Amino acid sequence: MENHRRIKKTRERPKPFVLPEYCKGCGRCIDACPQDCIEIGTEINPKSGLIPVVIHLDNCNGCGLCITACPEPYGLAQTMNPEAELENPFILFGEPETTAPTPTAVPDRTIPLPKTEPLVIKGTYASAIGALLAGCRHFFGYPITPSTEGAELMAKILPKLDGVFVQAVSEVATVNMIYGCGGAGKPSMTFTSSPGFSLMLEGISYMIGSEVPGVFVNVMRGGPGLGNIAPEQSDIKLVCRGLGHGNTHAIALAPSSPQEMLDLTMLAFQLTFKYRNPVIILGDGYLGQMTGKVTLPDYMIEPGVPEWAVYGDEAHRKNLICSIELSEPDLELHNIHLNQKYQRMIEEEQRADLYYCDDADTLIIAANTPSRMAKGAVRTLREKGLKVGLFRPISMWPFPIKHLLPLLDQIERMVIVEASNGQLEDEVRLAMSKAGVHDIPVIEHVRRFGGMLPQQEEIVNKVASSNVLIS
Ligand code: SF4
Ligand code: SF4
Repeated sequence: MENHRRIKKTRERPKPFVLPEYCKGCGRCIDACPQDCIEIGTEINPKSGLIPVVIHLDNCNGCGLCITACPEPYGLAQTMNPEAELENPFILFGEPETTAPTPTAVPDRTIPLPKTEPLVIKGTYASAIGALLAGCRHFFGYPITPSTEGAELMAKILPKLDGVFVQAVSEVATVNMIYGCGGAGKPSMTFTSSPGFSLMLEGISYMIGSEVPGVFVNVMRGGPGLGNIAPEQSDIKLVCRGLGHGNTHAIALAPSSPQEMLDLTMLAFQLTFKYRNPVIILGDGYLGQMTGKVTLPDYMIEPGVPEWAVYGDEAHRKNLICSIELSEPDLELHNIHLNQKYQRMIEEEQRADLYYCDDADTLIIAANTPSRMAKGAVRTLREKGLKVGLFRPISMWPFPIKHLLPLLDQIERMVIVEASNGQLEDEVRLAMSKAGVHDIPVIEHVRRFGGMLPQQEEIVNKVASSNVLIS
């Protein structure tokens, strides 16, 4: 007992440290100190731009009142090495358990399928079947025309495949369910349409930030606002330039037929796991409802488990997925890492379809359903002897500029055909500008919106009249 008292008496209470970059100079600690140990500082801290207090420990009795008074978590600290706590979360939270095995990836399996007769189905159905063949067994969604049939088909089929279909209470709930499922390393998707897609943007930004996969099929409809349920390419700008706040990009694939709705949806699942980043299928209302011949692939995928997944087994349980980085240097490094990933997508994932482009002096640029009318226009114009080709971006982001650049030397003009008010044209112009193209050809356009699609005849007339004007 005596011994214990003696030890207690002689033990020195730890004294506080000021962490200058976290001190805001509010002075509360000065008022709190009974020993007058703390005074207003005079020097601006270069990291915070503020003036921290200065502490003199000669008279300090270690009472800790200054720490209690400080509103900043780390303005003052009572540890021998407070910086180390910030740098090393293990000091704060303890060492992680080391007995769990190191997580390893369980690879996907490719399962051969027998050859079948082509189906004649609408675009949303084709996309849903593509998702199932890619191994997607988790669907989350909120119904919105003209995308709902895709969700309906998933609701019918998934329970028979031991899958999960959840109709969420909203699009906001939907995207967060996809976040959770993707975080567990499982392929998941939703069908939505423009106003619903807008509501998902915050969650998509979180998914990009925390590197979570997921596939979003956006069957675009007329806008702005609720607009109508007819086809438009209203979300090109949103998908290419505005996926939530911060430094965000996602591969966006623009199909033009029910067959491509299937093929590109399967590709989307592959890419979303390749890059750990959401992938958008950018369809349009007409394409979603359009019926066409669809040939099924001769394989399907049984997904594995990525090593990074927060999966329920012992090896994966210690993984962490989150989109918050409170340290400024760490968040900058994370953004640099994301930029390197975006650059890899730009280099490896540009896709385009070129139709009669070899000798073209006039290039029609169109995507989605308007590209179908543009294709018909090219045929008609070729019959008239005009050298017209169609350049169809399949990857809307990254824009397939490397496929366009070789054509620029030979073409005199572009006619950009779209069901929006210049959103595709902006992407074309931006891509050329970023590629350093100075000699930009004449750019004309055919634009319809509000559910009205560019018609083959208007495209023919525009190109033919331009040719008369030029010659
Ligand atoms: S620990 Fe107590 S005595 Fe020491 S500086 Fe803080 S308030 Fe003053
Ligand atoms: S250490 Fe805390 S209480 Fe003291 S001036 Fe800085 S921020 Fe204010």
